Amino acid sequence: MHDAIVVGMGPAGSSAATELARAGLSVLGLEGKVMPRYKVCGGALSARTDRLLEPDYHSVVEETIHRVRFQFAGAEAFEISSPEPMAYMVMRDRFDAYLCGKAREAGPEVRDNERVVKVRECADRVEVETVREWYRAKVVVGADGATSVVSRALFAGRRGRVLGALEGEVPWNGASSCLAAGTIILDLGVVAGGYGWVFPKERRLSVGVAGLQGRHRNPRSAYHGFVRTEPALGGLEVPDGLGHPIPLYSGTAVERLPLTTSRSLLVGDAACLVDPVLGEGIYYAILSGRMAAASIVGHLQGLTPDLTAYDVEVARDIYPEFRVAARMAWTLYTFPQMVHRMICRRPELIQLYAEILKGRETYQSFYAKARAKAKDSFTHLLKDACLATGKTKD
Ligand SMILES: Cc1cc2nc3c(=O)[nH]c(=O)nc-3n(C[C@H](O)[C@H](O)[C@H](O)COP(=O)(O)OP(=O)(O)OC[C@H]3O[C@@H](n4cnc5c(N)ncnc54)[C@H](O)[C@@H]3O)c2cc1C
Repeated sequence: MHDAIVVGMGPAGSSAATELARAGLSVLGLEGKVMPRYKVCGGALSARTDRLLEPDYHSVVEETIHRVRFQFAGAEAFEISSPEPMAYMVMRDRFDAYLCGKAREAGPEVRDNERVVKVRECADRVEVETVREWYRAKVVVGADGATSVVSRALFAGRRGRVLGALEGEVPWNGASSCLAAGTIILDLGVVAGGYGWVFPKERRLSVGVAGLQGRHRNPRSAYHGFVRTEPALGGLEVPDGLGHPIPLYSGTAVERLPLTTSRSLLVGDAACLVDPVLGEGIYYAILSGRMAAASIVGHLQGLTPDLTAYDVEVARDIYPEFRVAARMAWTLYTFPQMVHRMICRRPELIQLYAEILKGRETYQSFYAKARAKAKDSFTHLLKDACLATGKTKD
């Protein structure tokens, strides 16, 4: 019997498995696909990821981002820049294979191409059935992403706000687009309740749309509209987008549902730990994988009576951030054009937001500093909008 089985070897599972093995536990990682595998994802890592990973992860970073172009439906563009990196771009096949390799180096046996189909929790063990075999362990970590089998089997009633996103990879050689090096594009005007992006990698542009609020009847038509009109994609062959769910943090109700039972824990997308402003999930997947591992180690070494230290940490360090982010996301995606104009007028607000990505501000500290400035600008914009409407009526 293993000490722990980790189901899914994406960023959350690999991070958990690495930490568990480094603490001397016997760990089995089970991955349904064969690594390296393609994953539908923008692959943008906020620069604060430097705090979580060893510096050699930069070997799989394909572009460092110093500049962001904001636009609304291809127009009203403005840019912010930063001498320090704001984000790093990775392709998920290489990045996840790097993380899984780190886990393997630390000791766990990782079996890929071995999809988990059933999980059962007993008084003295967990039992995990794959397409090939049965395994037993003292604890199981559900790191199996947005459609988690572990969550469905052991956490009935836990459901996040699952929204749709589409992405395509466009072959690119740097010279074949007007996009400047180290620049990403975020467009708030291409999909209702969300945004479109262009993220440069070594040999391709990752292009996508995500709806982060409300219902999206036809994200595919938003994707097609975006790729047809975005100037940076002019003349490039853009493939159809592939879809994947994003399980966003869904508000305080979900906070009341624990992420642990007596022998299991959920991490990353399986735990719906995705930031509601940008849909950033990789940072929180790594962070939660590490937090979960620490609580398992404490429990199996007899230092804590159960696994709930993990719930306590998520409630202390992640949920308060997501609560503020959810409020901001509501404003952003309810009044996207007005917010776009506000940040265009007050770029210092978005510069301050970039400090969150760098790890120098939190959502909470950002909100406290930005609220007064934003309210002031917002009121002006509302007045402008009312005046404009009045004039039109005249
Ligand atoms: C279109 C799109 C764009 C995105 N862009 C970004 C971005 O730019 N930046 C960002 O930070 N986040 C982004 N995200 C979110 C990000 O992809 C996820 O939050 C992140 O991958 C979560 O990591 P994870 O390890 O929890 O899950 P995953 O990365 O989904 O890993 C889960 C792993 O479990 C395996 N698995 C699943 N089921 C089983 C099973 N039954 N048995 C065994 N193995 C199983 C899967 O094969 C996979 O390897 C995006 C998401 C989408 C859909």
